[in-house]
Amino acid sequence: MTAFPDPGSDARVGLERRFWSKVKRGSPDECWIWQGARMSTEASSSHGICSLSGHVTTAHRVAYLLTTGPIPKGKVICHSCDNPPCCNPAHLFVGTRGDNVRDMISKGRRYDATGKLKVTLSREQVRDITDRYVAGGISQHDLAREYGVGRLTIWRLTRGMRQPRQPNEDAAEHTLNEALALLLSSLNERTVLEQRFWSKVERGEPTKCWLWIGSVTRKKYGYGRLHVTFTGKQYSILAHRLSFLLARGHIPDDMCVCHACDTPLCVNPMHLFLGTHSENVADRQSKGRTASGERNGSYTHPERRPRGDRSGLRLHPERAARGERSGAYTHPERVLRGDRSGSRLHPESRPRGEHNPAAKLTNEQVRDIRTRYAAGASKAELGRLFGVSHRSIRDIVNGKKWTHVQ
Ligand SMILES: [Zn+2]
Ligand SMILES: [Zn+2]
Repeated sequence: MTAFPDPGSDARVGLERRFWSKVKRGSPDECWIWQGARMSTEASSSHGICSLSGHVTTAHRVAYLLTTGPIPKGKVICHSCDNPPCCNPAHLFVGTRGDNVRDMISKGRRYDATGKLKVTLSREQVRDITDRYVAGGISQHDLAREYGVGRLTIWRLTRGMRQPRQPNEDAAEHTLNEALALLLSSLNERTVLEQRFWSKVERGEPTKCWLWIGSVTRKKYGYGRLHVTFTGKQYSILAHRLSFLLARGHIPDDMCVCHACDTPLCVNPMHLFLGTHSENVADRQSKGRTASGERNGSYTHPERRPRGDRSGLRLHPERAARGERSGAYTHPERVLRGDRSGSRLHPESRPRGEHNPAAKLTNEQVRDIRTRYAAGASKAELGRLFGVSHRSIRDIVNGKKWTHVQ
């Protein structure tokens, strides 16, 4: 600590500004929590760390050095509040390593061989935690912070216990987008989320696809998916959307995040771009990825389709938005019609005629059909000849379909 800058020097002023910008300062008797990096990524109770003239040291030591003065050789800085990330100078005191260890053990805390903080909860504390959790209104995260243990410990203690559903207006009102925006606005939460996210990605060269190795929406052509908890409510977000959000900060409502590389599991932000929903569908169709015919779900797993009496409409007829409750009625402006429709705005993105992978005919054959019909062939005959229905022939000859072929 020889290089600690003197009070009043430029270096000292810079250090103070840099240091306190990372501390959430509250009232004089509150804990002032370090917002920067932590010693351990899991425990919300781990010490803050910061770099000081090229060395990494703990944040509370720097807080003490900046406000109180030099630390005597061989002494450590202890927390009277027993809250490792706290940097409030009023909660810090000088002790010996022995004091610190005795203090921690008396409070049920010690470090294990790997240097990780271990907290032993007393029987009373465990009962407190489970009682308060079951009573509701407090999250596992908050309990972990309060008792200085990892959230996983709280989860183990409360596993199988249910909290009453809270009439929590905050949680009820958040859409996925709002919840994520709020979550990402907190530096700590963002760091935790980013770490969780990237731990499930095989990152490679910047130009290559970075594949998601976490859970997926479905086995074939599925997207990566991540569950995120916010104000006690669980949200599920698609991995590539989250990647885009982390990289660019915002996804406008009603926009899709599309893959330039056509690899659904890829989360490389360089391969992602914004598109409308219809563009995304058209893109998938033009690439032949829509499962049609024998690959379609209703063919491969007919039992999974809730039909007849199991259909949603039969079971919950009241849920169907019909008539005056239908979207087209309540929000006519949202329905994209006429010149605002996708096929007018982006005609090139619609796979038409023979470019449509599902097409049975080519442009040449359509011209042939029209010529033969004009020469007197019947629709039924032409249908048999070209392997399509007589109705298709009818639509072709009276100009309802394949209109772009002259
Ligand atoms: Zn404190
Ligand atoms: Zn890619």
